[in-house]
Amino acid sequence: MQTHDRVAIVGGGPVGLTAAYLLAAEGVPVTLFEREERVLPDYRASTFHAGTMDLFEGSGISEALLEMGIQCPTVQYRSWSDGKIAEFDHEVLKDDTNHPYRLQCEQYKLAGWLFDRLSETPGVELLYGHAVTGLDQDDSGVTVTADGPDGRVTLIADYLIGADGGRSTIRKALDIGFEGHTFPDRILVMGTTLDLRTVLPDLAFVNYVSDPVYYGHILRIPDLWRMSTPIQDDMSDEEALRDEEIEKRLQKVIPDLKLPDIRVRGVYAAHQRVADSYRKGRAFLAGDAAHLNNPKGGMGLNGGMHDALDLARRLAKIWHGEADERELDGYEALRRPEAVNDIHRQTQQNMKNLTVSGDEARRQLFDDWRRKSADPALAREMLLQSSMIASLRRCGMLKDRA
Ligand SMILES: Cc1cc2nc3c(=O)[nH]c(=O)nc-3n(C[C@H](O)[C@H](O)[C@H](O)COP(=O)(O)OP(=O)(O)OC[C@H]3O[C@@H](n4cnc5c(N)ncnc54)[C@H](O)[C@@H]3O)c2cc1C
Repeated sequence: MQTHDRVAIVGGGPVGLTAAYLLAAEGVPVTLFEREERVLPDYRASTFHAGTMDLFEGSGISEALLEMGIQCPTVQYRSWSDGKIAEFDHEVLKDDTNHPYRLQCEQYKLAGWLFDRLSETPGVELLYGHAVTGLDQDDSGVTVTADGPDGRVTLIADYLIGADGGRSTIRKALDIGFEGHTFPDRILVMGTTLDLRTVLPDLAFVNYVSDPVYYGHILRIPDLWRMSTPIQDDMSDEEALRDEEIEKRLQKVIPDLKLPDIRVRGVYAAHQRVADSYRKGRAFLAGDAAHLNNPKGGMGLNGGMHDALDLARRLAKIWHGEADERELDGYEALRRPEAVNDIHRQTQQNMKNLTVSGDEARRQLFDDWRRKSADPALAREMLLQSSMIASLRRCGMLKDRA
């Protein structure tokens, strides 16, 4: 197979599929390589922020998310001992966004929706069951090599997007560093059909729990209620995922809770890392391949989708002769600082707040949350940041409505 007329995308996660969908909508032919044979259930991301919903309005993506997801206007900050400390209502953003809520939808549902649309789109080639093993490039194109069910496949594309996740083969093949750190704690995520409001009646659909040991979140997603808790000892993932261990952990924070019906369970590492560069020649990085952050705040996928949109727009301009190659330099210049200065800053701060210890420090934090939630101007300021509207305005990707 030899072509020289398309963009190659490596990775059929939500970021790679979003890039493919946007490029195809602009009439740019794409070939997408995905190691797995199909879109698999994945219960990592579920939050789509107001900024993302505004950004993708009219593309079909926000409309699909609205159909598949749940609108959650309020976010709570809690502790296990005090219960609800403060509640923030996205209503204060009503003049800033068309979507004053967090939209909760499982990331694999968005990936499935994108896959279905792309399957019907002319000019799109979806190569599932193809693991990319390497790439080579010169001034005129990128050669991608993959192992597929019928053996080795080679494709020559004009440009390549590496959206192949945190362990990116493309980032490694490009010899781009991935500085940062991995947290000592792992995160145990559980999804249950039990309505958690039967045990904690005043829960919102999005809740962050501050606790020096058992910090985490409780979220309503369309399929389930989802909880996370850290694994701080050297217990293996397998052990932590056992029913008895899960029940023990749950009972530390909700003493009388019997093991509910657990439908989903997984252990994840948490990182703060950003690629040294988002581009080498004709190859670009996007999504988790370019930046990883801890999930407190739900920003990794949102940020990755913002990358995909900016990069797809630039590539489409080049494709249609509306800009020269300098257009592509703007991608890293615009998007990398947001990963470093905004997504990392906010998620690190969230992690700090959720794990803060000591009575005085906790009292100060809780007072701060209460003060901000009681003052609409302060609440708006905080939610503009957490909903990623501020980031997208700074990038010029959303207009300031003030
Ligand atoms: C517990 C948890 C909760 C989270 N919650 C949120 C949230 O609410 N909101 C949010 O914004 N983010 C959240 N995130 C982060 C979010 O899940 C990721 O940012 C998101 O999945 C990144 O998408 P991606 O497409 O870049 O990478 P991935 O989803 O990792 O997809 C990469 C794809 O590339 C494929 N691939 C890898 N190597 C190759 C290869 N060599 N050849 C071909 N294919 C390959 C993989 O099979 C995979 O399908 C959360 C993360 C965790 C761990």
